[in-house]
Amino acid sequence: MLLQHLFGSGPASRADLARSSGLTRVTVSDLVAELLLEGLVEELGAPAEARVGKPPTLVGLVPDAKHVVAVDLSVDDQVAGAVLNLTGEVAARASRPLEGRRGEDALALVRDFAAELTDRTERPLLGVGVATPGVVSADGVVLDAPNLGWHDVQLADQLKQSLGQPVYVANDANTAVMGEYTFGGGAEGGLMLLRLSTGVGAGLVVGGTVLHGSSGAAGEIGHVTVEADGEECACGRRGCLETYLSVPRLRRRIADSPADDVLGDAGRRLGEALAPVVGTLNLGEVVLSGPPELVEPLGRAAADTIRERVMPVSAQQFVVRPSALGDDGVLVGATGLVLAGELGVS
Ligand SMILES: [Zn+2]
Repeated sequence: MLLQHLFGSGPASRADLARSSGLTRVTVSDLVAELLLEGLVEELGAPAEARVGKPPTLVGLVPDAKHVVAVDLSVDDQVAGAVLNLTGEVAARASRPLEGRRGEDALALVRDFAAELTDRTERPLLGVGVATPGVVSADGVVLDAPNLGWHDVQLADQLKQSLGQPVYVANDANTAVMGEYTFGGGAEGGLMLLRLSTGVGAGLVVGGTVLHGSSGAAGEIGHVTVEADGEECACGRRGCLETYLSVPRLRRRIADSPADDVLGDAGRRLGEALAPVVGTLNLGEVVLSGPPELVEPLGRAAADTIRERVMPVSAQQFVVRPSALGDDGVLVGATGLVLAGELGVS
């Protein structure tokens, strides 16, 4: 609880921590002493503003107390990764070409790559977070990831054994939404993150928790039909939302028609599909991640459409915004997975 407060709100005095946690000041002092000993927090002196009486000493999280290794398998042709500190700042990066590896070969590459990254930091490691495409169980089994040829792969267990570290594995869109929620200024009122790339993926955080759904496929709005006779989709059906939002298709249309028309139409379609979701869950934010020149105008059109279609009370606080984390969202989110699992912060 104390780490969570320091993580979310920054440095605080022991008295502030007692107030916010409801714990006694004696308990808070004991816990802070333990955290100081572990090196996870440090004393920062008195706050800048003058006060009457003896100024309290602030304690704050030590960003580099521990490092986290994050691996991103969501990029088509490579395995990307980084070493990050506890505030999601990148300390080192690496990547390796996948070169068409699948199944066991891909698994071996991920294992070697993660081991290499764990050697890239001098700091003690808190754990390893992995973001993978596909459907992933809560305990880190990749149930189905067609692009990597993985079915029922015990990814978290296998990496844990070979690395000797705690390992957390989650779907890439869920990881990205976790990153936005933890590090990107995600609000408390519910957040949906849509990643626009070759396809469209989405993740949802409601009540501080990532939604998984009954079969781990929560957020799969890309293959909802929005036009009965629309273009053919990668999934074999016609008129899926993804056929209006995938980046290659948007770029192709913009080559033939004015960008404003193309992005306005795509944003309107997105808004029509999302309005029932926003209304049902009373979501506070929809965050779009993708090329900024596409995402910004598209987001404006989507926001207008959603506001027209939900009750004023749902529209009042609702915003559509671009991701604050950009391309690093997935890596930063994988760090958030480890923080949530090991320190209970989110
Ligand atoms: Zn489809």
